Amino acid sequence: MTATAARSLDAAPGQGAGARLVIDDVHKRYGPVGNHLLALGGISLTVNPGEFVCLVGASGCGKSTLLNLIAGLDQPTAGTIESEGRLGLLFQESALFPWLTAAQNVNLALRLADVPAATRDEEAANLLRLVHLQGFGDKRPHELSGGMRQRVALARALAQRAHLLLMDEPFGSLDAITRDLLHDELERLWMELSFTTLFVTHDVREAVRLGDRVVILSSRPGRVVEEVPVDLPHPRVGVDDDMTEIASMITRRLRQEVQRHGR
Ligand code: ADP
Ligand code: MG
Repeated sequence: MTATAARSLDAAPGQGAGARLVIDDVHKRYGPVGNHLLALGGISLTVNPGEFVCLVGASGCGKSTLLNLIAGLDQPTAGTIESEGRLGLLFQESALFPWLTAAQNVNLALRLADVPAATRDEEAANLLRLVHLQGFGDKRPHELSGGMRQRVALARALAQRAHLLLMDEPFGSLDAITRDLLHDELERLWMELSFTTLFVTHDVREAVRLGDRVVILSSRPGRVVEEVPVDLPHPRVGVDDDMTEIASMITRRLRQEVQRHGR
């Protein structure tokens, strides 16, 4: 771990850099009783400190709903969610402030994390270097490519000194080559900083590329149908055949789920 990394992800007293997340029998109903949609029908899942868990499921199965509940943006209808430490969020659209430069976007997150003004600029530059954006600090979001914007968003999430990083299809709108590069970078940062990660995707290959564990969700209501451990060492370079095998197995399982729902 570099000095910068250690500083930017200081552990809360008595815990490592990664937080534990415990989801217990969470239900989420939208709309009034009688005319409601049961989006989540009893999700239980524990993510251990420093673990990288990927959640896969068809579109509309409740992945974003679950992340919103974990982030506290909405309340479960029943069940409990416990997590400790600071939360970082990363969504498909980077949601950077368009009128701020890349460095200012990161700087703002540092300010909100109570980092003293005197060290913020240096730290923002370090974080941008960490995501390989040195030299781009003075660019505004519209001057950057989609992949670069997601890198800034990642730097901003790291600036929040997250113990738990929630990612909702963060690379979904990027081309395959850029996505591959960002997989490598996210994996490297995760190995270096050991934050806990819950990564949502509908791309099985991406889930197997990154996750220690892949959790498969069913649709209507969303439930955990299977958890698949991915026992491949990180960084996952040169293990393409193994990844393909696991990805095919998960894809078959997902297809069964989708067919079961007659779609
Ligand atoms: P995913 O992220 O897996 O594509 P979502 O969590 O966005 O799925 O949605 C799950 C289900 O809940 C969908 O049927 C969606 O239409 C419904 N839904 C999501 N958010 C709301 C909401 N705020 N009000 C009503 N229905 C919603
Ligand atoms: Mg979604």
